[in-house]
Amino acid sequence: MAQQKCPYCGAELAPEMLEQKMCFACGEMFEDVSEEGLANLKENISLMRIEEEKLKAEEEQIRIKHRAQQEEFQKKYEEQKINRQIELQEQYRKRLKNFKITTGFNFEGYRIVDYLGVVSADVVAGTGVVSELLAGFTDTFGKRSGSFEGKLSRARQAVLNEMKLKALNNAHANAIIGIDLDIVTFSNDMIGVSGLGTAVEIEPIDG
Ligand SMILES: [Zn+2]
Repeated sequence: MAQQKCPYCGAELAPEMLEQKMCFACGEMFEDVSEEGLANLKENISLMRIEEEKLKAEEEQIRIKHRAQQEEFQKKYEEQKINRQIELQEQYRKRLKNFKITTGFNFEGYRIVDYLGVVSADVVAGTGVVSELLAGFTDTFGKRSGSFEGKLSRARQAVLNEMKLKALNNAHANAIIGIDLDIVTFSNDMIGVSGLGTAVEIEPIDG
């Protein structure tokens, strides 16, 4: 009788393995240890393995398809996110462009629809400006130093911008009324601008 081999792992089946109907190498068991029985089993196993390979290949295909779909979804999501950000920036720019400010309490041709709270901002104009200011007062032409004026004007602009940005946090705000800008001096040769106003929603009277 030819040496029987385990249909599962190919190990040679010693007589005691045949007697026990079990492969000691891989632990698999056999119902029929006849030459024909083992040959049939081997045939079935190879068919089963082909099926398994097919299933694995199909699963892999599904995984690849799924991954591609996920990547596609992720890409679309990122695109939408970017588009939304661009859209928001565009809206913000538009609102900022049409934003109105006044030291008064109304706008010609508009009515105030809603009062949306106080907005304030403080900006330090710079250090050394108080000495510049004092120096400016003593110069022969009686003018303030140009550099001081520049710093102060930039600080005023910065305060107004910050107030606008704070007002825009409220989705309905499109104007600030009653704007009051103050120059504040600090002890250590610093000067700043402090601003206060009320954010409002306005609409054209014949709108
Ligand atoms: Zn085996």
